[in-house]
Amino acid sequence: MTVRTRFAPSPTGYLHIGGVRTALFSWMYARKYGGQFILRIEDTDRERSTQASVDAILEGMAWLDLQQDEGPFFQTQRFDRYFQVIEQLLAEGKAYRCYCSKERLENLRNEQLETKQKPRYDGRCRHLSSPPTNDAPFVIRFKNPQIGETVVKDLIKGTVIFNNQELDDLIIARTDGTPTYNFTVVVDDWDMGITHVIRGDDHLNNTPRQINILSALGAKIPQYAHVPMILGHDGQRLSKRHGAVSVLNYKEDGFLPAALLNYLVRLGWSHGDQEIFSLTEMTELFDLTKVNSAAASFNPEKLLWLNQQYIKNTPPEQLVPHLQFQCDLLGMNVDSSIDLVEIVKAQSDRAKTMKEMAENSHFFFSELVEYDEKAVQKNLKSEIIAPLTTLSEQLASLVDWQPASIHAVIHAVAEQYQLKLGKIAQPLRVAITGNTTSPSIDVTAFLIGQNRCIARINKALQLIST
Ligand code: GLU
Repeated sequence: MTVRTRFAPSPTGYLHIGGVRTALFSWMYARKYGGQFILRIEDTDRERSTQASVDAILEGMAWLDLQQDEGPFFQTQRFDRYFQVIEQLLAEGKAYRCYCSKERLENLRNEQLETKQKPRYDGRCRHLSSPPTNDAPFVIRFKNPQIGETVVKDLIKGTVIFNNQELDDLIIARTDGTPTYNFTVVVDDWDMGITHVIRGDDHLNNTPRQINILSALGAKIPQYAHVPMILGHDGQRLSKRHGAVSVLNYKEDGFLPAALLNYLVRLGWSHGDQEIFSLTEMTELFDLTKVNSAAASFNPEKLLWLNQQYIKNTPPEQLVPHLQFQCDLLGMNVDSSIDLVEIVKAQSDRAKTMKEMAENSHFFFSELVEYDEKAVQKNLKSEIIAPLTTLSEQLASLVDWQPASIHAVIHAVAEQYQLKLGKIAQPLRVAITGNTTSPSIDVTAFLIGQNRCIARINKALQLIST
């Protein structure tokens, strides 16, 4: 059997990181067993589905590099097929037209609630031989088995048993003929040969209904794995209140896709004490049946920590596009004379996110430096005028503009003025970066470039003398 999994988001909002976790599990499962991963957009709710949301899903999946083998398929393009299967079920007596009015259903519901029964359709139209009137509106209901149990052997939740009596005759097509969610999912999972349905556990209650429809169609029942949801620190379902939940927010905030995936795989799953997994490694080691069946709690600090580890350990060349993206977002003009690989190398030890790296690299890119008032007051005092002037002259005449030779000049000037290295390096840093933190001073000066460094030192000298 070839494993076939799918990710089936409804495009009614952003791509939530809970959804990404489910997508990752489905993707890994297919990869691990040499199978196929299918992307299906469940867009039948036309009022709530938007193109912007479809785009966000596709962009998010592409950014995470969770590539599908088939799709994206769109349910709105498959209506003919759904109508065909509905006709088949009607013809085989496995579905029926229900003419009950809204009022009747509402009264029924109220009566059931009053007598403390679980509200469910009473099956009145199950055996109707003809419509009450020729043009009476109707929905189509599936004839759910009335006795017995439906057993879901869930790979994460274990065995869950549903009493068929509690599952009423589900509406599979509305009065306007459009098919409903539980039905379209069934037809798609069947047609697409899905072997493993991996999805959020908010769908667990739909599963017995879907299994019964699949059985009525003579379809093979896939295996199910219901992934627990992600909760915020307060135990509530993760939502905007807890910070970013859309995967594209994480992209904008400077997280690396590999770090986010690594974080998500570790939520409710572990392999010894190991924290860091490459995608290949996690795919090999990951086991659905070992996922904790209880909800997982989201820890933003840990994600940040992981992101920092990835920034430190990813080859600098691979981080360049991420830095470029952040610079573009921040409106920084990165001209082609600047080697971003060198900037990444200089900054990768000190940034938790790529956004932070871009923000802290401002002085490498901008022509003019913005001087921080406090830093200026503390470090650019009159006694530094002479050493800085000498430094400016010596740096200006340096033929070989390299970190080592820059370092040697700074050293020599410090010695000449009998200053500790820091006493000249820090004023120099403020002079050329505008502030007190940057990579090592020689590398910083080297990357800023000779002309710009000299111009900035001279500008700083003016600041002191005015
Ligand atoms: N479209 C459903 C959702 O976004 C998922 C359905 C499924 O995976 O079966 O919640």
